[in-house]
Amino acid sequence: MSDKKPFEIARETLKQLTVRKLTPTPANYQAIYSEIAGVPTEPPFPADRLRDISQALPTKTPGQQRQRGLLDSAIGQLNWEGVKAALMAYGGFSPPAIEPTPSMPGAAAAPVPLALTQNAPPAANAPAPALTGDFLEQIARLIEYAMPALGSDDARFAEQTQTLLKAMRQPGADLPMVKQMLGNFGHRLSFAAEDQAEIKVTLLKLLHLIIENIGELSLDDRWLKGQIDALMTASAPPLTLRRLDDVERRLKDVIFKQTEAKGRALEAQEEMRQMLGTFIERLSQMTESTSVYHGKMEENARLIEQAKTIADIAPVLKEVVGATRTMARDSLTARDELRGMRERVQSTEAEIAKLHQELDRVSAQARHDPLTGALNRKGLDEALDREVSNVRRKDTPLCMALLDIDNFKKLNDTLGHATGDVALTHLASVAREVMRPQDTLARYGGEEFVILLPDTPLDRGIEAMTRLQRELTKRFFLAGTEKVLITFSAGVAQLGADESGPDAIKRADQAMYLAKRAGKNRVLGS
Ligand code: GH3
Ligand code: MG
Ligand code: MG
Repeated sequence: MSDKKPFEIARETLKQLTVRKLTPTPANYQAIYSEIAGVPTEPPFPADRLRDISQALPTKTPGQQRQRGLLDSAIGQLNWEGVKAALMAYGGFSPPAIEPTPSMPGAAAAPVPLALTQNAPPAANAPAPALTGDFLEQIARLIEYAMPALGSDDARFAEQTQTLLKAMRQPGADLPMVKQMLGNFGHRLSFAAEDQAEIKVTLLKLLHLIIENIGELSLDDRWLKGQIDALMTASAPPLTLRRLDDVERRLKDVIFKQTEAKGRALEAQEEMRQMLGTFIERLSQMTESTSVYHGKMEENARLIEQAKTIADIAPVLKEVVGATRTMARDSLTARDELRGMRERVQSTEAEIAKLHQELDRVSAQARHDPLTGALNRKGLDEALDREVSNVRRKDTPLCMALLDIDNFKKLNDTLGHATGDVALTHLASVAREVMRPQDTLARYGGEEFVILLPDTPLDRGIEAMTRLQRELTKRFFLAGTEKVLITFSAGVAQLGADESGPDAIKRADQAMYLAKRAGKNRVLGS
């Protein structure tokens, strides 16, 4: 450590910068200042960089939100220890024991030290019994919350858990015993958790196998093929309840259509089988009557040859007329029957065509848009109902965005309708990539989409749409050799306290309209 005064060090520093021909940057100044002062060079605290990292961390759970608060607060105080502790907690490691300052958010939830060592003499600062009881109660509740995630197949584990909970909740709990039980519980818990993870993976594989098989059976149906592909994408990890819900709805659509198609095929098959049977029967009857007729004619020809008088011929002629008449009648009946059959074939064909139309109508009523795989209006209505009732139950913010592709008519006119269709699928797939799994994408109209963003306040909703807009401007698609970029205008609205879902969408629509008026390719909040 130098014994120079600060102003002397400063003067010397400036001199050295000139002598050494160094550019007078803050970093150079600091390095030389530290050298002259004889103190180690401390790099500046990278608050901005750290804030960037903090912004990128997820805040889905209350725990993550708390850790993020702690991290931000530590960055604000330029506190390396605090940053380290918060990041370790994020990674699931126990942070080193640091005393939370009252200004730190989440300080109230800081862990209470608890001595569980069997024979340790009571320390001077040992927790009061009430505090220990409190802490044990907290762990007991934690265990209860975690139990549903582990399934209820293992009766012995469930029993062991109940015994542990009881021991923890006993007034004046036997701490060494609870510690031992907790150890055993933890051991068993690790196996149960592994089992559950394995079960989940296996069930998912099974689901994929089923979906693939349905797909194999339906190769001739383009609508079904599209749905199967969408199902495969929807059921890929990471799974959330919302995505599973989507898988369920899609599977129901597919199964419904499969059942319809199978019923229709069976009916048509039965009809054809019956008609073929009648045809073969008629054919054999005709052959039979023709050969009887031929026999009779040959016999009559022979009789005519042998006839000596007209009187001999008269009965033969009568025979010939009779046989010919029978033959003509048989032919007529056969002709009528064949005509009838032809009419029935035609009406069956018409029936099948009608069924096809009916199926197309049913498909249209399914919940997904066949072109983009996004939800259609019906699907959106259902998803909106679900999200709105979630908001009412949990009191969380819900945003909805309405976006409309800019100058889409011009794109259709210059590059063709098929390219317009590709643009729609392109937008849907980029949106799906950029959105979180819990967000919902729906095709609202021709080139309009609605995105539901649960747990999202208005500013975050606008941010999310701006992110999608930026992503879309980075990615073009090819129409032949031409690179096509699309933009959209969007309005975002946060559901009001007493507002209905459709009303909020209407507000988003109005904001979208203003975005168009303001020059397009922009996002406005309502
Ligand atoms: P703006 O920027 O103001 O939104 O203008 P725009 O041209 O995008 O809007 P406009 O409403 O005038 O045109 C929408 C066009 O979208 C008209 C319609 O032919 C086309 N469209 C609707 N559905 C489909 C579809 O499924 N495929 C294709 N290729 N075009 C569609
Ligand atoms: Mg439009
Ligand atoms: Mg448009």
